[in-house]
Amino acid sequence: MQGGLRLSEKWGLNGTNLVCPICGEPQGFSYLGQIDEEDSQAPKYTFTDPCDKCQSILNADGVFFIEIVSETNDIRTGRVGVLSLEEAEKIFGKGISRVNLLDYPRYTKIFDNE
Ligand SMILES: [Zn+2]
Repeated sequence: MQGGLRLSEKWGLNGTNLVCPICGEPQGFSYLGQIDEEDSQAPKYTFTDPCDKCQSILNADGVFFIEIVSETNDIRTGRVGVLSLEEAEKIFGKGISRVNLLDYPRYTKIFDNE
């Protein structure tokens, strides 16, 4: 079958969980089959489009800040904060991205003092 799913020799359908790239909420499940020449196992989680909740915040000019451990360690802590675009530009200047990674010290300074 042209364009069909090629099964992994090792992993079969080789499933992955689809998650929102912003809040990490599950969005579904997908099958990747064989993903490379080495026939690697599919990643446990794969980012998909933002979920409806996050997309509605983006549509309402919200700016996301995803807390990470430190500037040199981008592992997420699980906290996600939102500021209005106006508030975010006051702090970070014009041209700020709509979805940002922010290290623990700076995240705490902004979101734990409210
Ligand atoms: Zn989301």
